[in-house]
Amino acid sequence: MKPASAVGKTTGAGSSLSSVSPIPVPAKKQPVKKVPRYSDADLQSFRVNIERAKADALEELRMLRERLEDLTNSEANEDSSIYSMHMAEQGSEAAEKEKTYAQIQRVQDYIRKLDEAIVRIDDKTYGICHMCGILIARERLLAVPITTQSASYKIRKRCPDDGIDRIQAKGSN
Ligand SMILES: [Zn+2]
Repeated sequence: MKPASAVGKTTGAGSSLSSVSPIPVPAKKQPVKKVPRYSDADLQSFRVNIERAKADALEELRMLRERLEDLTNSEANEDSSIYSMHMAEQGSEAAEKEKTYAQIQRVQDYIRKLDEAIVRIDDKTYGICHMCGILIARERLLAVPITTQSASYKIRKRCPDDGIDRIQAKGSN
């Protein structure tokens, strides 16, 4: 036996849904401000750089977790003759464990930011200063692939009037 069809029985009378257009109304056109962006070829080279940094970070994370595991295991074995330690060593080991844990969190945070950078590559917004919209200097992006801030802003707390990001420190030309 087949269940009775309920089709057509759920439409409420006077539903406000009927007045909603199924076609999204395009947003009012903003005045077109030309926003520079890096070329697809540039973005591709930045992507390679980000992915290399991510691979390094994942490797660092793996080693840190291994280290944390070793520290945890040696703590568990602290009564064994192999691991007999002085109190001071045990204390420094606990501190070491805490430090390693903090490093793990830092690396995880960095990896998350690298993933966000990859999203910006996909969006083609990578390398655009979030403060002023200029292109962040290439050297800075290669050195600090997660950055969203021009070197100019980072150094001088001010984005350049000419729209060209420069990595020189304050005072040098
Ligand atoms: Zn800027």
